[in-house]
Amino acid sequence: MKNRDVFRILFLSMILFGLLMGVAFPPLVKLYFNDTTSISISFTLMCIAAGITVGIANYILFSIFISKELSYLVEGMNRVNNHISAALFSRHIQTGAFEIEVKSNDMIGQVTMAFNTMGRTVEQRLLNETRFRNLISDLSANVALDKTAEIILKYFIEATCMTSGLIYGKVEEEMTLLSSKGFDTDEKLPRKLESWQGPIADAIQSGEPYTIDTESNCIDWMTTTTPYGCIKPKLIRIIPLIAEKSTVGLVIAACGQSEVPESIQMETLKTYSSYMAPYLQNALLHNKIQEMASYDFLTHVLNRRFGLVRLQEEFSTALRHRSDLSVIMIDIDKFKTINDTHGHEAGDQVLKTVTSSLSLHLRNEEIICRYGGEEFLIILPMTNLNKAGLVAERLRDLVEQQTFYYKDKVILVTISLGVSSLSSLVTQNENDLINSADTALYHTKKMGRNQVAIFRNNEAVLLPRNKPTLA
Ligand code: GH3
Ligand code: MG
Ligand code: MG
Repeated sequence: MKNRDVFRILFLSMILFGLLMGVAFPPLVKLYFNDTTSISISFTLMCIAAGITVGIANYILFSIFISKELSYLVEGMNRVNNHISAALFSRHIQTGAFEIEVKSNDMIGQVTMAFNTMGRTVEQRLLNETRFRNLISDLSANVALDKTAEIILKYFIEATCMTSGLIYGKVEEEMTLLSSKGFDTDEKLPRKLESWQGPIADAIQSGEPYTIDTESNCIDWMTTTTPYGCIKPKLIRIIPLIAEKSTVGLVIAACGQSEVPESIQMETLKTYSSYMAPYLQNALLHNKIQEMASYDFLTHVLNRRFGLVRLQEEFSTALRHRSDLSVIMIDIDKFKTINDTHGHEAGDQVLKTVTSSLSLHLRNEEIICRYGGEEFLIILPMTNLNKAGLVAERLRDLVEQQTFYYKDKVILVTISLGVSSLSSLVTQNENDLINSADTALYHTKKMGRNQVAIFRNNEAVLLPRNKPTLA
């Protein structure tokens, strides 16, 4: 079928209309003036010519004005179309590029507005699709738990009408805080959602997102400080992340203002959570495997391999910040005798108890690892030799004073400790740090055990005990 040419039809209609007007005008004039004289042919021809001229002039004027408006519209539509094509595979969408400026109030203005409505819908779709594509590529490139949690939370907040939020993940059967965004201080936020009661438990059980109001549910830890003061969200959403029919995580987020109906928002959240939950599950699994690989099975402190990785990190930090770094090498005295006297199981029990006592007396930034059978390495960042010596003596005293039991039998346990520091070494090398602590430890063994020696001026020096020994 041949396409209609509206301008050609308009042109012909206007000429025909002019012709009709030219033909009709002379008889009308005659009728109006009641003139009996006949109308001359030349007058009739002039009227027809005038009618056709007005028809042509009308067409030309119409074409000039309308064509200009239509060209503007066509240009705008082509530009938007190019933006859509470019946005299809891009990682970034240029917002606002999908509209044409409305310049008139007429039919063309209305067509432009209708086109813009369509443009905004396409823009929204493209934005969602691009965000989702970016999210999947970010998540696929990441298996680390903290990073995965951060990406998922960021996406939830950006893509839905939420303002701030928290993400929890199931670590050893407990919902543990993994990441937060937009809240005042992390301190106030619950690290664990131990008591899964009320709406949180409901959301987990039903597997559906929940919207609750903070006041009636006594949730007072969600605050955001703005230049206008402290703000508490009125409504929060709880979105369970379910993979393989079990809740692997939970997003708790403050709601923002939205024109999108509640039911659609909930459906969107459900869809997003079903896409993201498997990624969180993978990251949790990866984290568990990593933990299993880095921790010693018996004592639950870092194993030698990961302890040395941590030492390497702390060593680089110390060099970068020109700060000191100390290590303490610990060895349980006559441990073989403990095994031989009380049995291997008793030896294991002693290892566990000594480790937990030592760990409890260290600060967060201090690291302990099981270096060998009954040997431990403690890393003390930003600590000089004197301070490290004091720490070592405190730990020695702690073990000496502690009573160890195995099946109601008392076992006497003491430890020997060798200390070295970066600042008291000639070479700034992490192996030398360990070797010199080892040399100091060897010295204590030679000098009777249950003592601390520090490595200073290229030799091991015994430290006096703070309290008199039992033996
Ligand atoms: P010293 O005071 O000189 O350090 O004497 P020691 O007996 O502690 O040293 P030695 O190196 O002779 O013995 C260490 C013992 O630790 C030998 C080994 O059987 C025991 N051991 C190593 N790992 C474990 C473990 O995981 N459990 C138990 N029960 N014993 C272990
Ligand atoms: Mg040993
Ligand atoms: Mg020993």
